[in-house]
Amino acid sequence: MEQLLQEMLQKNYGKNIQDASNEEIYTALLEITKEKMAGMKRNEGSKKLYYISAEFLIGKLLSNNLINLGLFDETREVLKRYDKEITEIEEVEPEPSLGNGGLGRLAACFLDSIATLGLPGDGVGLNYHDGLFRQTFVDNKQREEKNPWITDQSWLTKTERHFEVPFQNFTLTSTMYDIDVPGYQNGCNKLHLFDLDTVDESIIHDGIQFNKEDIRKNLTLFLYPDDSDEAGQLLRIYQQYFMVSNAAQLILAEAEEKGYDLYHLYDHVAIQINDTHPTMVIPELIRLLMQRGFNMDTAVDVVRKTCAYTNHTILAEALEKWPVSYLEKVVPHLMPIIRDLDARVKRDFHDERVYIIDGQNRVHMAHIDIHFGYAVNGVAALHTEILKESELKPFYDIYPEKFNNKTNGITFRRWLVHCNHRLSDYLTGLIGPEFMEDASNLEKLLAYKDDENVLADLKTIKKEAKAELKKYLMQTQGVEIDENSIFDIQIKRLHEYKRQQMNALYAIYKYKEIKKGNLPKRPITMIFGAKAAPAYTIAKDIIHLLLCLQKLIENDPAVRPYLRIVMVENYNVTKAEKLIPACDISEQISLASKEASGTGNMKFMLNGAVTLGTEDGANVEIHELVGDDNIYIFGAKSEEVIRLYDTNGYNSGKIYDGDAMIEELVDFIISKDLIRIGDPVSLARLYKELVSKDWFMTLLDVKEYIETKERMLADYEDELSWERKALVNIAKAGFFSSDRTIREYNDDIWRL
Ligand code: PLP
Repeated sequence: MEQLLQEMLQKNYGKNIQDASNEEIYTALLEITKEKMAGMKRNEGSKKLYYISAEFLIGKLLSNNLINLGLFDETREVLKRYDKEITEIEEVEPEPSLGNGGLGRLAACFLDSIATLGLPGDGVGLNYHDGLFRQTFVDNKQREEKNPWITDQSWLTKTERHFEVPFQNFTLTSTMYDIDVPGYQNGCNKLHLFDLDTVDESIIHDGIQFNKEDIRKNLTLFLYPDDSDEAGQLLRIYQQYFMVSNAAQLILAEAEEKGYDLYHLYDHVAIQINDTHPTMVIPELIRLLMQRGFNMDTAVDVVRKTCAYTNHTILAEALEKWPVSYLEKVVPHLMPIIRDLDARVKRDFHDERVYIIDGQNRVHMAHIDIHFGYAVNGVAALHTEILKESELKPFYDIYPEKFNNKTNGITFRRWLVHCNHRLSDYLTGLIGPEFMEDASNLEKLLAYKDDENVLADLKTIKKEAKAELKKYLMQTQGVEIDENSIFDIQIKRLHEYKRQQMNALYAIYKYKEIKKGNLPKRPITMIFGAKAAPAYTIAKDIIHLLLCLQKLIENDPAVRPYLRIVMVENYNVTKAEKLIPACDISEQISLASKEASGTGNMKFMLNGAVTLGTEDGANVEIHELVGDDNIYIFGAKSEEVIRLYDTNGYNSGKIYDGDAMIEELVDFIISKDLIRIGDPVSLARLYKELVSKDWFMTLLDVKEYIETKERMLADYEDELSWERKALVNIAKAGFFSSDRTIREYNDDIWRL
């Protein structure tokens, strides 16, 4: 590596390692790594997977690619010899902004595991130039800015593939860009990102505003552009169709190049539809097969045997339904096919809950996936049960054989080896390196459950991660935190169902206790990271509340030594990698039944944090694995929550009126203390939401939440017992390796 790096730096800049800047070294390493990957063997086979997803939240790639190529340690050593840290070199890399949250990060972990298992499988998505958005805080509020990440030298490689994508009254020509996905000590796959040469970033103004109608210029500017008006919804349909038409054309082109019989496409291709965004791949493939001479029945049959669908949510508002009139405007050539599919359903089933086109002339995208795909999976055991028993029950009754569970997973290469090399090195020394290949080997750690030296070592490793996070937050945001405090962390998209507002009520509780003189044994640092969708008003109000509380405490010398709130700006993969190893308490407090799985919960566990959570999503499976002693569970169970929804039985106002403590906490949102700092309109809106609606039942669980957190904080003081919990969490995390998840997808769905 040393020689390669020297040569590349000489060639590019006429410099040697000693004199090169971090930017120059980064670029040289990028080029070396790209060359290595170009020379790798491709994963091949007679059947290939295409994983289509609106999001791929891949994170920075340099270190992970080096790890998977087996070059990381050597590179780190070479740089050290010249007094350079790879972590500093990596700071130069812009994080690709191609995702929003768990769904997109899952897609990225899956690509890593698919390649690592040697399976032929590529990702297909869009090359959003400005990503979701970059979050800044101004006047204690979220502001959105564009988030450009594509630089001259990047992981993208422009290819010679172009496709014509037809819309109602014009056709667009795409260009395909590829990012190599090297498996860990295995072959290479690709992430294909489609783009338009005419996209024009200069049309963006005032943050993330742009003309939504200028499709040639805006199509691949942003992920999830604001869809609160018709133009925004049409743009989303343009994006989705552009993505899937390219995907379908690529799939058929590759199949034809290999000489496959398209009448047996399903023997050579599996298509995974990640959430409903890529649903139109089904009618598009049918259309393209019919162009090639298939009749409709045969095309439907072939496509049905090729496509499988992953459901990621039971939130009704997140299951896409497009008005027929919008689809007619954007993709009129698909509508005859969609109407035909709908007619087939209406012919066979007399239950309007399973129709594709409903009585209000809306197309239910998930219904297309379920009827015209061969598999439907949920992403955690509880989630799949809820799909079968309530949300998708009418479909389960028709197609029980299609439904299956695939509990999510995470790649340990990124979320342990890369982000927490101290822990990873320590584990390798203690239990051997086998866990890198087969994560169930982490259970060997259980043999050290009562070994005080090991428990002390784990504590030291956590302490070092906390000190590092402290340094990072000082450098990036200028905030100083106390590494001897408890780090209590909630990082995830901002959504009412995830209940950051409940955690804010805890902060208010603690603030008031401290004001009363009830000081905590140890200071608490509450860390949040979350982006709110730009048009989601209440989510932004919750961010505002958190930032106001942060400010209030910063300026209160009586409270500040004991309680801090830090809202991390622009939460993304890079920040997650710094925050997760430093965490003591992992906040997973969604309303039971609402979080499909969660993957943040798995990352924290793997890094030795203890979960404070509801019986929701994959928390249920974490609970089963670690046992009652090593997790803190509270709150209403999913059956109770579902019953409350079904019977309209929840009334937050009643809880508020009937409980003085809850009333006091909620009232604080509109107290003089906060109004003085914040925006009275925003705070009053949030207050009103909680007392008059509270759709995600914050007030139902808040008291038990506070009690449980207090118990947890007290337990933290018993050091050995706490570290034992951390150890058990690490040891039991093996189940959540995405290698396991991908093996299951392959065994049960793809059969590559
Ligand atoms: N965002 C990033 C950067 C992540 O790494 C993850 C978690 O895995 C998520 C969002 C999703 O977090 P959660 O599963 O807690 O919703």
